[in-house]
Amino acid sequence: MTNATETRAFQAEVKELLGLMIHSLYSHKEIFLRELISNASDALDKLRFEALTQPALHAGGEGGRGDELLIRLDVEESGRQIVITDNGIGMTRAEVVENLGTIARSGTRRFLEELRAKGAQSPELIGQFGVGFYSSFMVAESITVETRKAGTQDGVRWSSRGDGEYTLEDMGSLARGTRITLQLKPLPTDDEEAQDFADAGLLRELVRKYSDFVEWPIVMPTARLEHEGALVRRTLADGSEVFELNSKKPLWMRSKDEIKTEEYAQFYKHLAHDWSDPLETVHFRNEGSNEYTALLYVPSERPLDLFDPGRDKSNVSLYVRRVFVMGDCEELLPSWLRFVRGVVDSSDLPLNVSREILQQNRSLAQMRKRCTTKVLEALAALRDGRRADYERFWAAFGTVLKEGIVVDRERVEQVAGLCLFPSSKDEKAITLDEYIARAPAGQDTIYMIGGSELATVRRSPHLEALAAQGGEALCMVEPVDEWVRDMLKEYKGKKIVALERGEARFAGEAEKQKREDAEREYRGVLEKLESGLSGAVASVRVSSRLKESPAVLVDDADAHGIHYERMLRQTGRPVPPRKRVLELNVDHPLAARLKSLVEAGDASGKLKDWGDLLYAQALLAEGSPLPDAPRFSKLVSDLMLASSK
Ligand code: ADP
Repeated sequence: MTNATETRAFQAEVKELLGLMIHSLYSHKEIFLRELISNASDALDKLRFEALTQPALHAGGEGGRGDELLIRLDVEESGRQIVITDNGIGMTRAEVVENLGTIARSGTRRFLEELRAKGAQSPELIGQFGVGFYSSFMVAESITVETRKAGTQDGVRWSSRGDGEYTLEDMGSLARGTRITLQLKPLPTDDEEAQDFADAGLLRELVRKYSDFVEWPIVMPTARLEHEGALVRRTLADGSEVFELNSKKPLWMRSKDEIKTEEYAQFYKHLAHDWSDPLETVHFRNEGSNEYTALLYVPSERPLDLFDPGRDKSNVSLYVRRVFVMGDCEELLPSWLRFVRGVVDSSDLPLNVSREILQQNRSLAQMRKRCTTKVLEALAALRDGRRADYERFWAAFGTVLKEGIVVDRERVEQVAGLCLFPSSKDEKAITLDEYIARAPAGQDTIYMIGGSELATVRRSPHLEALAAQGGEALCMVEPVDEWVRDMLKEYKGKKIVALERGEARFAGEAEKQKREDAEREYRGVLEKLESGLSGAVASVRVSSRLKESPAVLVDDADAHGIHYERMLRQTGRPVPPRKRVLELNVDHPLAARLKSLVEAGDASGKLKDWGDLLYAQALLAEGSPLPDAPRFSKLVSDLMLASSK
């Protein structure tokens, strides 16, 4: 057994977080109560769930039945103490150390850095991260947690002033569950607006505001409150008289038109530990043989850990007949909708359903399909009806949504239709349908251009001829876009063509003829350049995609993208060589100069240098590094000297 009493230091991240929190001027300190009640409610959920298979965990009480599961809230106004008690699952000593001494969540480091950068006064950040239990240090000068895990003998007491360390003591016998005592800070004398959390009336208000739909009774001794209409008076099994503070009706069970936007938002915040309102709410009921209710939210802010490893699971909780069964139920929504938060409550699944059963369950597969469709429909409505909000959504979660094109064959077109791509033409990102609608009449292709940076791509030589005809291309610059392009060969019957790969397709018959003539005329130049560049490019040919630039590099039609190559390199895998073609713009005056040089026999041997320069320019134009920068720099200096003679 661990030593009975010990003092331990908080993990560095916790210490820093607490420091920021204690001195924060965050005006929503009241959320601490919501966090504590959510934790208590989770602990009761867990106990009930565990007791399905181990009834002894919840034994005792009258006639061998379990005691009533509830959350008690008490306040001692003169001593400035708040006590929150639950008879839920409780924690072992090791769990206390793990849960109340560290922050296990990934993304913590980054969160703290951002908090430091923006200043601790940035309330969205605190809320966004969901600092949970630790938020109590905004209102308490010291906190004591006494807890006993269901099914174990001994309890433990944790206490801290939030100043860097905490103390653990063994407690011997304790009631099952957790009791948290907050010693509140004194009321500030210089702030008349300050809320007094030692006021029972205020606590009752806060319960109604944030936690009304919590499924477990939240009770307070009758002596603390004046009786008023909405309060239900009850006598508990131990004889104590209490008021029940919450209505307990899960929000999703109520009918849609009875629920106010504000209530939806409060429930979302309770669920997601988020501070900001959701961007969109999807609430529907499925009747019939597979009966369930889903309440799903699209958040308005991107969580800091969205792209962390291990965060690729769905964020939807599964309930069965109003009983919490599991959080993060990946069977309910695909991973590319993992930004969605919410609950699905089934009337038909068995309560003790396991992950293994879920994976094979047919009604679950239907639920997943329907929920996915509903979310996508809501996003389409957002795109069409509230464009500014949709753009906000897209900025936060577009990258994740795009994964749907890559992994979900059945929904490629549906998801593609939701994507916004930056256009080569103007600043505003557009959808594929908008692209089609404004393309010149007769254009039966959708042009895309890939690269690693938007600014570079927009200036790419590959766009020159297209732009001269008034055309535009969609820019694909995110790493995920390379996989998207592999999957998305066409959209609504229009072929998708990558401008920087393969032959230029927009050349008409006349232009084709012109190019064939030019190929013949410039054969000597092309051959010389090709041999001069020995191996750096697969071949050299005449271009029909350029207007201003002298040359450009073109990829194979099925080449790997830059991001993909980078990934291979980072993971130490071999990078297949790119077979690229250098295209020469024969309308550029340089081409004529090259030609006369070749015709004159290239006595000075300049052609090799010029070829290298053209190649280097083409690399620079696409934002690629030069293989031999010092040589490039010397060639340019030589040219400058020669021209200033
Ligand atoms: P979060 O709730 O976001 O996980 P918290 O800091 O609020 O973060 O709580 C950390 C963990 O401590 C919880 O996940 C839970 O395991 C444990 N915990 C907190 N409060 C209780 C409680 N009343 N009963 C049992 N476990 C609790």
